Amino acid sequence: MHDIALKLIKKIEENGYVAYIVGGFVRDYLLKIPSSDIDICTNATPSQIRTIFPHSCLPNEAYGSITVILKNVHFEITTFRREISYMNNRKPIEFEYINDLYEDLKRRDFVINTICMDKDGNIIDLLNGQKDLKKREINTVGDSYHKFLEDSLRILRAIRFATILNFSLSEDVKESIRNTKQLVRNLSYHRKKEELNKIFASINVRYGIKLLLELGLDQELELNNLKNIKNFDDLMGIWTQLNVDSLYPFTKNEKEIMKQIRTVLNLDNLDPLVLYRYGLYVNSIAASIKNIDKKIVTQKYNALPIKSKNEIVINGKDISKLLDKKPGLFLKEIINDIEEKIVTNQLLNEKSKIENYILEHYHE
Ligand code: ATP
Ligand code: MG
Repeated sequence: MHDIALKLIKKIEENGYVAYIVGGFVRDYLLKIPSSDIDICTNATPSQIRTIFPHSCLPNEAYGSITVILKNVHFEITTFRREISYMNNRKPIEFEYINDLYEDLKRRDFVINTICMDKDGNIIDLLNGQKDLKKREINTVGDSYHKFLEDSLRILRAIRFATILNFSLSEDVKESIRNTKQLVRNLSYHRKKEELNKIFASINVRYGIKLLLELGLDQELELNNLKNIKNFDDLMGIWTQLNVDSLYPFTKNEKEIMKQIRTVLNLDNLDPLVLYRYGLYVNSIAASIKNIDKKIVTQKYNALPIKSKNEIVINGKDISKLLDKKPGLFLKEIINDIEEKIVTNQLLNEKSKIENYILEHYHE
């Protein structure tokens, strides 16, 4: 992935511009952790990039950046710029292109996100980001209060990076977050959820939640239950415990999962019918919230005689033939009955056994 990026940079430079890999990729590379996307900065404008890669650019350009796709990898290429003014503590509404890497780095959020790599793989570290990587500490580029005031998403990004990387926030960053935290209320719930998802999905989620609580962000994010979270195993499990289904945007599927987890919380997790009806995923989450050993739940689930209706060895057609009756609603009732009997081990999932049972109970 990173050799494709270096080739891309070489191509930009052959056309008379300069370009570097910047941000998350270089940070993660130095920390020896895998990185998902590669950001590139350059003094070429998006339209100049389009001229260099006429067939590989996505059509949309936003805020002075353009996406180039090479060998199925997406590269976000952003032109060096200075941001002049922001709207609602979030989007830069005015910026100008500049020709200077150093100036571009100064508009960025955190020092650890300013380290660059050139076309030969050399590290260019104008703001000494490697010092922070060694200290495992997050500092803003320049005045922290001002950075958070300009763009309040940076508050959540700070906590997200601290969580995922297991870094500390500098005292200065913490102090400024305390002084600007109410501005996260201006962010869309969609944005807030995106950042929270990354925090909640991290293996260091406990630390992330501790930071959110320590800085009073639970109140600003309207997550009143954050302090009461009992289990951190699963993203959806956390959202279920937070109980903000109608405040934050969730898909239909996510809403259904949260509803099911809540239902199962009030049922017996080791009951075969509960395990069967709600499945292993929902039951495991509910079990861990209730402090029941997930291993036992998995064992009990795996021991179920069937996991779904399709596994019953007899079908509607067989039953109507057996009873010599035209198919109708009665079939559903019979199937539901034998399904329940099989799941609860009152009936073996064997054709002759099921046929006998049906003849005994449903033959008129
Ligand atoms: P990751 O991709 O791992 O989530 P990243 O650091 O690459 O982390 P991106 O959102 O991909 O983050 O942004 C790329 C770079 O752009 C960042 O490293 C940072 O230098 C800069 N950047 C992104 N968002 C902001 C922001 N809100 N304010 C200032 N600089 C930002
Ligand atoms: Mg990135």
